[in-house]
Amino acid sequence: MVCPECGMENSEELTVCAGCGKELSEPTAKSYAKDFAWASLVLGIVSMLIFPYLYGPLAIVAAIVAKKQSYTGKMATAGLIMGIVAVCGYLVTWVLSSLL
Ligand SMILES: [Zn+2]
Repeated sequence: MVCPECGMENSEELTVCAGCGKELSEPTAKSYAKDFAWASLVLGIVSMLIFPYLYGPLAIVAAIVAKKQSYTGKMATAGLIMGIVAVCGYLVTWVLSSLL
């Protein structure tokens, strides 16, 4: 990883920078972002199957959190889309069932 202090490229197993000796800590936001992206994807899939009004919004929130933490992969987008589809599908079903 790149040292935030001096910009030197260090190998992943190093805990201190080889250039300036500063402690290298993994940016925690990034690993959390991937967790949220995974959560969003799983929640999105679940929301398509059961309880869309519950898991749909959770999938959307998880996707937004992942994206806010600069996650750039496709998992969060997939979770976001599935969450929106599930919620919209639920709302359409709900409106139709209240009209009929
Ligand atoms: Zn350094």
